[in-house]
Amino acid sequence: MQQFSEFNLAETKVTGIFGYPVEHSLSPQMHNQAFAALKLNYNYLPFAVEPDNLGQAVEGIRALNIKGVNVTIPHKQKVIPYLDQLTEEAELIGAVNTIENQAGTLIGHNTDGRGFIRSLKEESDFVAAGKQAVIIGAGGAARAIAFQLALEGLNKLMITDLDFEKAENLSTEIEEQLDLSVTAIKQQQLVEVMSDTDLVVDATPVGMHPNVDVDPVVEAELLHQEMIVYDLVYNPRETVLLKAAEQVGAEGISGLGMLLYQGVIAFEIWTGKEAPVEKMRAALESGLYQE
Ligand code: NAP
Repeated sequence: MQQFSEFNLAETKVTGIFGYPVEHSLSPQMHNQAFAALKLNYNYLPFAVEPDNLGQAVEGIRALNIKGVNVTIPHKQKVIPYLDQLTEEAELIGAVNTIENQAGTLIGHNTDGRGFIRSLKEESDFVAAGKQAVIIGAGGAARAIAFQLALEGLNKLMITDLDFEKAENLSTEIEEQLDLSVTAIKQQQLVEVMSDTDLVVDATPVGMHPNVDVDPVVEAELLHQEMIVYDLVYNPRETVLLKAAEQVGAEGISGLGMLLYQGVIAFEIWTGKEAPVEKMRAALESGLYQE
């Protein structure tokens, strides 16, 4: 933890997270350890903001000169009307997970999609341009990833969800706004598209602790060794889907990377410094994978 005595505490810059509930968040641990590693006079606090108080809480960022905050469930969409500007990604995705206070102007960023891409680039040699991807699940996380993959120049995207209409709505929305071919498919159609797919993203909670003994969202027979299998679930570290990927020799990536890099990007937005990535990863791992 931060050694407060090293600093002039009257100059501490405050950051934090707005969520409800917020007690489960690993972000305070991750960011405070990062500030300590770089000896920055910053602090990161959890703020349990009830939905009815969101507007006042955001006004408080300005009033109290808070440097920036992360925003999590249930505020990611509802926070938008209270902000002054949105980045291109946040505007497209329609959700904000990071607020930057630039001298009283509140800018809404979405680092979830960018965090996903950065993790993909750091942990594999995947380049989206010209590739085909399948996303399973059409919820909030899928949305951020789908738009970001489109911005990265992906060639073709397919989206499937238990609720087909949800997949259709997201596909239509992306096609209307960006130059990418997006198709909603039924789960049964996975068998037709997987052999030509370069990247599969599981954006469902399937396999998440404690429900680890389940069938993977894609059967192992449909995976192949030329593809990258990205499971957004990060607890456990090795999910049932990542085990299936390993069986067929496909490269599997855990959602820990996305969690880490969305935080890394937020840290860099607030501090202007290169984030201590490995310290942040260790902070997350120690919070998640205690024996
Ligand atoms: P969400 O909004 O609830 O979306 C999940 C979607 O998946 C829902 O539309 C759900 O449909 C669908 N679904 C569930 N089971 C399915 C199945 N077997 N086949 C196809 N679709 C299925 O949740 P989210 O916020 O997007 O999060 C999704 C997952 O990503 C969670 O496990 C979350 O913890 C993880 N996540 C990880 C990170 C990270 O940094 N690594 C960030 C965000 C989220 P129904 O609504 O009909 O159930």
